[in-house]
Amino acid sequence: MAICLVGIGSNLGNRAETLQNACRLLEHHPAITALIASRWHTSQPVGGPTGQQPFLNGALRLQTSLEPDELLALLQTIEDRLGRTRQQRWEARTLDLDLLLYDQHITHDARLQLPHPRLAFRRFVLEPAVEVAGELVHPELGWTIAQILDHLNRTPAYLALAGPPGTGKRWLADQLCQTYDGHFLADPASNRSTGQPLEREVEFVRTRAQQLAAHVAQHDQETLLVSDYWIDQSHGYAQLEQSFDAATQLEAALDVLKPKLPLPRLIAWLDAPADVLKKHLTKHRTAMDWKIEQLESLRKAFAERFDRGGHGPVLRLDASQPEMCLTELSAAFLAMQPAS
Ligand code: ATP
Ligand code: CA
Ligand code: CA
Repeated sequence: MAICLVGIGSNLGNRAETLQNACRLLEHHPAITALIASRWHTSQPVGGPTGQQPFLNGALRLQTSLEPDELLALLQTIEDRLGRTRQQRWEARTLDLDLLLYDQHITHDARLQLPHPRLAFRRFVLEPAVEVAGELVHPELGWTIAQILDHLNRTPAYLALAGPPGTGKRWLADQLCQTYDGHFLADPASNRSTGQPLEREVEFVRTRAQQLAAHVAQHDQETLLVSDYWIDQSHGYAQLEQSFDAATQLEAALDVLKPKLPLPRLIAWLDAPADVLKKHLTKHRTAMDWKIEQLESLRKAFAERFDRGGHGPVLRLDASQPEMCLTELSAAFLAMQPAS
């Protein structure tokens, strides 16, 4: 039997009745036992077409002998049965059932992603979830649901954009800051040029850390801060320079600085194939002439870093679709905010 967490929501029709009916159908299914439902929480819709009604959201914990794809199929059948229609992304719906966790399964299949890719930064998911599944562990983050919600509540509204050069971080940061009256923490190292080797990475780490600490101290917790760097990215840059004996120095600097810095509330990990990055860089005539192999090496370094977990919520985005990245990040930022 697998232990699962399911997100349930409705913002169309008789919301409470639909949620209740969905619970009943799940409870009576022969392959499902021990269903526990959270209270229903009201939340404002995030993303999607404007003018939608508020949601009633909840979380269900259950045990099942169904396989992950069978459980997803069952959830979709129940959605259909209770009047769900599909035209646009994030539109109003009578019923939404998301499979958030299935034991410790990890899969990145488009049809079924586990854990649910937006679980770790949505307040409207985490607040009900903690009522029924506070101790369940998110297998990619290595944190419990209660720890993830705690992270959301304690961290400043700081969003770190991580990813190799050419992923459009600066544009995204600008757009977000304009829309949400945020502060853009521009990478002090972004104007490094060819011929200026990466020996200065330790210095960059220190400057970034100072910039971060100063802004976090200066602004209230809910002011949006967006950086087009991530403090941990330096490991990848250091690896590019084989002759660079400062790798250990860099590790030492990070060991001292990182514990003093706030973790980002969310890290957006932007990635795209190296030739796409190269094209973007050529178009924007950046000072440094990045080679495809260097970009590949950086991509790999980011992937290795994120695979290790422990950084808090990470949202992986396809940098070859900038508008989509902006939509995702805007919705993520709004979903993290406390109710006003
Ligand atoms: P969001 O996923 O951001 O909450 P949504 O619930 O509105 O958005 P849907 O239109 O309900 O999105 O689902 C879109 C697709 O997501 C579905 O066709 C489904 O196959 C896929 N999907 C991938 N992983 C999951 C998951 N863990 N739970 C539910 N659906 C998933
Ligand atoms: Ca959903
Ligand atoms: Ca869904």
